This record gives sequence, C-alpha cells and structure tokens, in this order.
Amino acid sequence: MSTACPNIISREEWGARDPAKALEDMQGPAQYVFIHHGAGVSCTDKQDCIQQVQGYQNYHMDDHKWLDIGYNFVVGEDGNVYEARGWTAVGAHTQKYNHVGIGICVIGDFNRRLPNEAAQDTFRQLIQYGVEQGHISPGYTLKGHRDVGSTECPGNQLYKLIQSWPHYKSGTQRYA
Ligand SMILES: [Zn+2]
Repeated sequence: MSTACPNIISREEWGARDPAKALEDMQGPAQYVFIHHGAGVSCTDKQDCIQQVQGYQNYHMDDHKWLDIGYNFVVGEDGNVYEARGWTAVGAHTQKYNHVGIGICVIGDFNRRLPNEAAQDTFRQLIQYGVEQGHISPGYTLKGHRDVGSTECPGNQLYKLIQSWPHYKSGTQRYA
C-alpha cells in the first residue's frame, strides 16, 4: 500500500464559495467511506477539474439548497484531490450515513468505463492518508452509494471495481 500523500487542492485554490452557514462536525473518526461518481463530464487537467468541482458546488448550493458542496472530497482523473467539506464536517452525500461516513466523489460517469489509474491511485492514497491522520477508522467499511440508497451511483464499472478493494462490504448492515 502506497503511503504517498495525495495532492490535495484546497478550497481556496479552487475558488470555493463559503458554506451558507457553519457546518456540523463529525463525531470521531469516520466508520465508513462512501464512493460516488459525478455522473457527468470527466476531466484530466486541473483547470477542467476545477470547473467541474465549482459546478458541483453551485448545483448543490443553488439547486439543492444545501449548505455547501455535498461531498467531503472530490477526486479527478487529473490525479488531484479537491477539498470539499474536508475531513471533519458532516457532508450531504449519503442519506442516513453523513454523520458517520466520508463521501468521496470521482469526477466523471463510470457506468461504462473505469476511472483512470491516476484517479484510482489517488482515491486509495486519500483513504490511506485519512486513516494515518486519524480521520478514518482503521477498521472502516468501504461502500458504494448504491449499497445504501436507490441510486445508480457510483456507476456500474466503478461499483464492480471497488468490490475488489480492501474493506469493501455490501449491504446496509451497520458495523459502526
Ligand atoms: Zn452518490
């Protein structure tokens, strides 16, 4: 397992809007990691990925009326991580699990193809880093969004892939 630090682009760097009001803090390390896909356009360079992340934030805040972009982090096929709500704030990504899980979204639509190697490596590095930093429980459970909600997310191909990753468990049982 690689221990390389993921390259995290801060909110300031991608020009995030401030949350509509203060976000609630998560209690203790996250017991779950949920993987999502954006189900839209993909990006392989930083400028394009920043546009996508800004688009997610605008959509979540303006259309959904959420306090901020819903995810904790967003991963692009440019190999960068984009800080969304970050490690400690409760997200709005996986109904009923936002208080106990970190939500990570990969930019793109992964029903018919896999995220590239750069995005896959970055995703794994981010989880590993989160465990090392004490933000994710070492015994965390990895799930796809569809495991706990009626959604196609994170796309058929990506969903198939994560089932081979360590810590993956299907179903809605709570292990926390
Ligand atoms: Zn999702």
